[in-house]
Amino acid sequence: MEQREKLYEGKAKIVYSTDKPGLIIQYFKDDATAFNALKRGTIVGKGVINNRMSSVLFTLLGKRGVPTHFVQTLSDREMLCRRLDIIKIETIVRNVVAGSLAKRTGLEEGTPIKQPVLELYYKSDPLGDPMINDDHVRMLKLGTPKELAWVRRTAHTINGVLKPYLARKGLILVDFKLEFGRSGGRLLLGDEISPDTCRLWDARTKEKLDKDRFRRDLGGVEEAYEEVYRRVVGAAS
Ligand code: C5P
Repeated sequence: MEQREKLYEGKAKIVYSTDKPGLIIQYFKDDATAFNALKRGTIVGKGVINNRMSSVLFTLLGKRGVPTHFVQTLSDREMLCRRLDIIKIETIVRNVVAGSLAKRTGLEEGTPIKQPVLELYYKSDPLGDPMINDDHVRMLKLGTPKELAWVRRTAHTINGVLKPYLARKGLILVDFKLEFGRSGGRLLLGDEISPDTCRLWDARTKEKLDKDRFRRDLGGVEEAYEEVYRRVVGAAS
């Protein structure tokens, strides 16, 4: 697979075209940003961990009937993926109150949620990814009602696969973000699934093992990513 030109450089990844029009390469960087890029830093080794962990979880989801953009791992930091026309919606699924949900509702972080909560955000850096509802999706023409129904259903399916899988590794899947895109007339799960995009707490100690350690200056950021890698990727290989 030949890497061609840079198509897009995001906060944590670079996307390259390839000699096959339907395929792209995602390159995972160690750069970390938070609060709409107001906070910037480096998490050494993060790119390798996020690439490997995403490949394990995309493969698992694929086996469980969730279509993803993942094709194959090319190297420590490179993943071959199907090219997507990304839907400008960030879908968040929550199993435990944390982060912006704690702020918005006044509920204490760590409060369990009986039925998972699904939220939609408008993927827009200049606007700072505001929360939206189905009516806004329609108004902004971000997706059809059929697509949105599929996104909601699939996000819950993904939670139903990942939550018990991670629980078996001693990790609580507190919440996570998903991105979907169109490819050849159907929708696929895109982006990545990693400690950058999920909140993961140690099941016993409730210690945070995700990007919140960077966001909140808790220290031990690299160690937390390495611990998740050891439990998820280490056990899978
Ligand atoms: O900040 P908030 O509580 O809304 O985040 C919910 C979940 O979505 C967290 O796991 C966070 O890491 C993820 N997220 C993300 N990218 C964003 C916003 C949130 O991966 N732009």
